[in-house]
Amino acid sequence: ASTDSTNTPSPWARWCGVPLWLKILIGMILGMATGAMLGENAQYLKPIGTLFVNTIKMLIVPLVFCSLIVGITSMQDTHKMGRIGLKSFLFYLATTAVAITIGLTLGALLQPGAGLSLPTSELVANSKEAPSFIDTLVAIVPTNPVAALADGKILQVIVFAVALGVSLVLIGERGKPAAAFFESMAEAMFKLTDLVMRLAPYGVFALMAWVAGSYGLSVLLPLIKVIFAVYLGCALHIFGFYGTLLALVARMNPLQFFKKISEAMAVAYTTSSSAGTLPASMKCAGAIGVNKRISSFVLPLGTTINMDGTALYQGVCALFVAQAFGIDLTLSQYLTIIATATLASIGTAGVPGAGLVMLTLVLTTVGLPLEGVALVAGIDRVLDMARTVVNVSGDLVATTIVAKSEGEMNSDNC
Ligand code: ASP
Repeated sequence: ASTDSTNTPSPWARWCGVPLWLKILIGMILGMATGAMLGENAQYLKPIGTLFVNTIKMLIVPLVFCSLIVGITSMQDTHKMGRIGLKSFLFYLATTAVAITIGLTLGALLQPGAGLSLPTSELVANSKEAPSFIDTLVAIVPTNPVAALADGKILQVIVFAVALGVSLVLIGERGKPAAAFFESMAEAMFKLTDLVMRLAPYGVFALMAWVAGSYGLSVLLPLIKVIFAVYLGCALHIFGFYGTLLALVARMNPLQFFKKISEAMAVAYTTSSSAGTLPASMKCAGAIGVNKRISSFVLPLGTTINMDGTALYQGVCALFVAQAFGIDLTLSQYLTIIATATLASIGTAGVPGAGLVMLTLVLTTVGLPLEGVALVAGIDRVLDMARTVVNVSGDLVATTIVAKSEGEMNSDNC
């Protein structure tokens, strides 16, 4: 083979040398441009995006199950596990309450629904049954763990994996062969995640093209104020609130941190699913330096119970609906929104559109017209993309802060 040093590398070889986060960003920008050019026709690219989404979804159950068991068997300390669980839970609740407060404040200041005169009589609210809090709580113990694994019920999978991991620790020597098996499986799942993430730039390109092609300006313009309020709130929550937490509590460089998690953020933005982003988040947590023992537990937990972006969106949308219908909210209604949205976020799955279902719950609880859901439904995907980025970033911030507080960082990469 010729080793002529004047040979310039082929475009493909150059593309292969680009770091993954940059490739994903390029995919996103090119996707947006392609979608704008192709318009409706961009939907033909969607199957490529769906293929990517399916590929990362394929990883979720085995990845969470195996790595969580390994997390517990390698920690050998079940008390510590309980403490980490409680810490994460409280952290998740507190940050969600902050998020919804930001949403309400922006909704009150920016008045996205003021002066809106949409023909509400033609709208049909497509309200779905929101899951009740108690039902969610009772259902976290699976009656059939195999069914829970097969159906991808993450909260149930977490409960079973924790129980199995603890039992393997309790039987001592006799638990070692099974623990070694899960360790080897978990390693393989991490490798597979790595391989699948190499497809992200192409999946992200196709998904972005589809979204940009199907939402023309005529759909977005009437609701531009609510879109602006949600996007501004998400940016404030991520870069203002999380950034401050990272700098003050974790003593990390927030910019380094956000750069390290940009792959997960891009996947969250384009797939609108924090559950689907889980493999990418676990990979990013590793890049930050978080020990897998912590990320394998705190991240899946966050994916299911922590939805800061969704809560923030609900604050904005509740006020948007109230303003659009000319309803003045009382202080107690504001407090009810904070409480309902915070609690409801615990029982909501990290899948596209789940926040819209929760909005029906919040609107019903404070007595706002459900037609409001129909108002936002048309543009929900665009809002969903932003709030999912917040959901995923929040999980990663919590995981990092908990890991720091437990002395469970392999290295400090930020
Ligand atoms: N799509 C969001 C997520 O997966 C949930 C939502 O709809 O708000 O995190």
